[in-house]
Amino acid sequence: AEALTTDLGRRAGFLRPAVSLRAVDGVTLSIAEGEAFGVVGESGCGKTTLARTLLGLQREAAGEITLAGRRVSGLAPAEARRLRADIQYVHQDPGAALDPWWRVGATLDEGLRIHGVGDAAERAARIAEMLAAVGLDADFGQRYPHELSGGQQRRIGLARILLLRPKLVILDEPTAGLDLSVQASVLRLLAELRARFGLTYLFISHDLTVVRRVCDRVAVMYLGQVVEEGPAEALFARPAHPYTRALLAAAPHLDGRAAGPSLPGEPPSLRRIPAGCRFHPRCTRASALCAAQTPPTEAAGPAHHVACHHWREAA
Ligand code: SF4
Repeated sequence: AEALTTDLGRRAGFLRPAVSLRAVDGVTLSIAEGEAFGVVGESGCGKTTLARTLLGLQREAAGEITLAGRRVSGLAPAEARRLRADIQYVHQDPGAALDPWWRVGATLDEGLRIHGVGDAAERAARIAEMLAAVGLDADFGQRYPHELSGGQQRRIGLARILLLRPKLVILDEPTAGLDLSVQASVLRLLAELRARFGLTYLFISHDLTVVRRVCDRVAVMYLGQVVEEGPAEALFARPAHPYTRALLAAAPHLDGRAAGPSLPGEPPSLRRIPAGCRFHPRCTRASALCAAQTPPTEAAGPAHHVACHHWREAA
């Protein structure tokens, strides 16, 4: 996938041309039906570009996307739009996805109307049922977004997309900005809804603690590439990549203990991708080999893969 950066100078008619950057590079992911798949990494690692590409908001330069066996990429725009309706996105700021001038019920109804679902009575019944499923009374339909707490807005955001019965739900930092108790209730709700509606989640987060509670499998991304992928249990118990280990060391503990020191520095710009292993300028285990050669992806366990020259010593 390529992120097209358009500098303001070009938009204003100045000199510099747009620069095409490869924000996601050589990533192959397969998500099974009913699975919760986590993608983690610092900001700029490519996880949001990955989501935008799945949603058709970002052009893929190469590769393909298939959904339930059907190819989504390369289709005519109208057909791709229809197929992509099966992929729904829960915004990390649910308040931004709600019209402040509309009562919640009208917003929920709009999605159903656009997709031609039933008559008014049918839609009202479906909305009441979905509000109950996300733990809210039917009278929440009469409220305006500003009358809702952050947790309630997230519940409405979930109700809005679940009404459309998507095949894949992309959750982008779904607990960002919530205090710990609300965070826990949202995570519980996500697990309940997944079980009840047989949902498939692509869960995007920088927070490993949250991902650990929700996901069956996890991919760790760094600078546009997957550096480690595996069953959540194995990856959290036996992290093989130095980057995963550093992220885990910096994550808050499930039992409330404080996080360790955060990873020093920041990922470099996509304009200056390091040679060899992209993580080598920040890696405490980096060797001359790391700076010279891209590490191959190797098996670190059943269905567990890692791209690091020295993962055995690191593990
Ligand atoms: Fe660190 Fe080298 Fe492994 Fe990259 S390949 S993560 S630099 S040890």
